[in-house]
Amino acid sequence: MKQKRFFLEESQIPKQWYNIQAEMPNKPLPIKHPGTGAVMGPEDLYPIFAEECCRQELNQKDVWIDIPEKVREMYTYYRSTPLVRAYGLEEALDTPAHIYFKNESVSPVGSHKLNSALAQAYYLKQEGVTNVTTETGAGQWGAALSYAARLFGLEAAVYQVKISYQQKPYRRSMMQLFGAQVTASPSMSTRAGKDILTATPNHQGSLGTAISEAIELAQTTPNCKYSLGSVLSHVSLHQTVIGLEAEKQMEMAGEYPDEIYAAFGGGSNFSGIAFPFMRHTINEGRKTRYIAVEPTACPKLTKGKFDYDFGDEAGYTPLLPMYTLGHDFRPANIHAGGLRYHGAGVIVSQLLKDGLMEAMDVEQLDVFKAAELFAKSEGIIPAPESGHAIAGVIKRALECKKSGEKKVLLFNLSGHGLIDMTAYDEYLSGNMMNFPMK
Ligand SMILES: *Cc1c(COP(=O)(O)O)cnc(C)c1O
Repeated sequence: MKQKRFFLEESQIPKQWYNIQAEMPNKPLPIKHPGTGAVMGPEDLYPIFAEECCRQELNQKDVWIDIPEKVREMYTYYRSTPLVRAYGLEEALDTPAHIYFKNESVSPVGSHKLNSALAQAYYLKQEGVTNVTTETGAGQWGAALSYAARLFGLEAAVYQVKISYQQKPYRRSMMQLFGAQVTASPSMSTRAGKDILTATPNHQGSLGTAISEAIELAQTTPNCKYSLGSVLSHVSLHQTVIGLEAEKQMEMAGEYPDEIYAAFGGGSNFSGIAFPFMRHTINEGRKTRYIAVEPTACPKLTKGKFDYDFGDEAGYTPLLPMYTLGHDFRPANIHAGGLRYHGAGVIVSQLLKDGLMEAMDVEQLDVFKAAELFAKSEGIIPAPESGHAIAGVIKRALECKKSGEKKVLLFNLSGHGLIDMTAYDEYLSGNMMNFPMK
């Protein structure tokens, strides 16, 4: 009988995260103060983020970082997530390629985001912080952080990108159900929001506007810190639990991936699945391809430029050396809200510059076509974000069919789309559009 799913024993769930910064051939460039341009150290970030996260952010020394016992215990409540051989999809494509996916959609909140939310909420609680603010696009990060905050007894306030707040009302309900306060961004509740709305009254919001508002609220609320769900290096670090598990599970399957695909918003799920494998490329010269798949409507990796830029619209964050479309870039209203971000994390930006990874972009309609085929052949409705990874893999699997190549393809199913059905309705009714970048 063919084995379809691979799980780990509880004792095999990672006890440490993998910190690729310590092993990169070229380290990421330093981050700089938004006002003075001075190089920033961990202490300079303490007022904004959990202190341990600030140290992790700039740690270029330790290859392995211990997962706190309490966080690991919470991981075991839903991990390991299954590694799945996509026999159904392979058959539907009639490809000689072997396709595997790591199913992060089985987390309680439906996406990989919880892996970092639990860690961040834990560290904040440890430090005696009582309130946390954040931004969210589609609502996946907001839902994860709201739940993690609840578990650790923190109050959460979430700014949700306005267009997503309208498109995905049920993620707002989820956050509210977990006890978070949710505000559509840009809003009139912050200086940054007011400035944006004064300049552009019908602004639909972006992750950049929501981040500005969340940081401002954190800075003006006592005992409150801010938490980010992607882009930053400590978030990518926490997500490596995905790839570390996948590495062991691929071994159980008796194969090793030739190519690894993940949707790309700020880089956290890509980093999570890719970095533990990339370790063997860096240290042993293993020839694996790592492919980030981004939307044509927000193509920072394929069309952005490498430069110092702000992580948010108002310019509150440190200046980050990254691939960016410009911090005032306003992406079209694609349904993959989690990918509507102007920049890429500093680690992935450096890796792309150094040729250790690749990037491709896909159109919205191709994403939904791929997601439909995946749903029909595997029975899982993917998040529109995850549909990007699937579109990338399908394209490659069809090339393999032509050439006869028996490649082993692995992708990360970052989340399910059961709360994104409005998007699928639009697709099914034939009203969906592509949004090439203007
Ligand atoms: C947030 C999100 C993404 C994109 O963010 P990354 O940090 O690039 O991973 C992709 N898929 C899902 C399901 C998400 O929630």
